[in-house]
Amino acid sequence: MAAVAAAWDQRSSKEQRRMQNVLLRQTVLQMALGHVPYVRAKLAAMGIEAREFKGLDELPSLPLTMRRDIVDPVRNPEGPRAIILRGTADGVKRFSDRSVVRRVALARLLGGEEIQELAIEAATRAIHVHLAAGPGGRLPIAYTRDDLDLLARAGGRLSALLGLERHDRLLNLVPFGPTLEFWGIFYMAHGTGMSAVHFRRERQDVRRALEALDDASATAVALPADEAPMFPDLARQENVDISKLRMLIAVGRSLTADERAVVGEGLLAAGAGDARIAAAYGSAEARVLWGECSVPAGRTETFGFHTYPDMEILELVSPETGRPVPGTAPGEIVITPLGFRGGSVPRWRTGDLALGGITTEPCPNCGRTVPRVGPTVRRGAWQRVVTLQGERSWIDLRDAGAAASERSSDWQIELRRENGSHHLFVYLGAEDKPAPIIDLYEDLKRLRARPTQIVLADTAELAARRSAASGPWPRYWDRSD
Ligand SMILES: [Zn+2]
Repeated sequence: MAAVAAAWDQRSSKEQRRMQNVLLRQTVLQMALGHVPYVRAKLAAMGIEAREFKGLDELPSLPLTMRRDIVDPVRNPEGPRAIILRGTADGVKRFSDRSVVRRVALARLLGGEEIQELAIEAATRAIHVHLAAGPGGRLPIAYTRDDLDLLARAGGRLSALLGLERHDRLLNLVPFGPTLEFWGIFYMAHGTGMSAVHFRRERQDVRRALEALDDASATAVALPADEAPMFPDLARQENVDISKLRMLIAVGRSLTADERAVVGEGLLAAGAGDARIAAAYGSAEARVLWGECSVPAGRTETFGFHTYPDMEILELVSPETGRPVPGTAPGEIVITPLGFRGGSVPRWRTGDLALGGITTEPCPNCGRTVPRVGPTVRRGAWQRVVTLQGERSWIDLRDAGAAASERSSDWQIELRRENGSHHLFVYLGAEDKPAPIIDLYEDLKRLRARPTQIVLADTAELAARRSAASGPWPRYWDRSD
């Protein structure tokens, strides 16, 4: 008798690992050979043969990739388009997993050549792109038709986590835009078969959009996390009845305990006695939105973002060294998507900081066995909007850190602010003889993170500077507040 596979949220860590191993090998093969130009070039440059890649145990041997590797024209002359799949029918036949090959063969059998073409296209052509804004420009996040099915499946899971059902009616107040936040909620409704009104234009005041709540007879509302705490108050001021609301979804980050208390009290005071609260979040360059399991209004605890282990592999690394951090220590989230073919890169450094680390213990609230992140996540934790030498720019301190660490084992990045202007300092250990410095300057100038000064310092001085900096990663010293 064939064993029935456990549901996605009930698998043991051993089962999760086994599935990840199979999916990871397929995904890397497809990215490298199927192919995503950036991944193909990068693995070739490192002498890694995708056909021989053994899976999870060898994952750490694959390079980490961060934003600057894609947006910097010297590191990636092809530009951000190089992370979009440029697949071919031949690639599907040779490098797809059996389910795709079977589907393509079946399409031919049932519908002839024309239908087979469509099936091949569904697996090889990126048909949906949204954009991840960040330092250095926007990155395209591309989905094939098959990928959109996966996104809808992730959306169905998100609904399950939140406790939404297909009879719920959703008012989506995440502004329409080319972002994972908007499309993640869109595909949540789609994947659940739930009626939804996606109501809000970009830059439209949330107050103006509230009127749709009545029209939609909404039982659930999704809105940006920053606006969630004031939602019940705004509804009261606008005379909008929210007593039928069963679910408030804060999108983009988790709410603090204080914010949960405020929202919960507001919902209960408005007569929404059955309302529950949860958050949904995905890193800007990720493929799916994760969700918290919801808690009733009035309670303020949260149990972290529940993830989908058969859709991605998660790692947490130190933003200083890129090396894994243990257990539930805070760290930078690194994502390897599984099964998504439209593009993307293994071991993507998101730049998002998970303060509570990752836990694989079953959730004490809902019992699911999937890895949980956070609950507190700081998006773009090392990103800053600064004025450097008269130029306003959106920078990531990790770019300076990565550039420094390539030249010296001992370094520190310092950001200071004086008279409304910022100054970026790069300190390098003089003993490593980190020449030529001009390359480092040019490197950072391309990323608009122009250093005010690059300083060679001795070991004692660097040690003193690190002990003066606070926080878990003293190589980044942000004194700009
Ligand atoms: Zn849970």
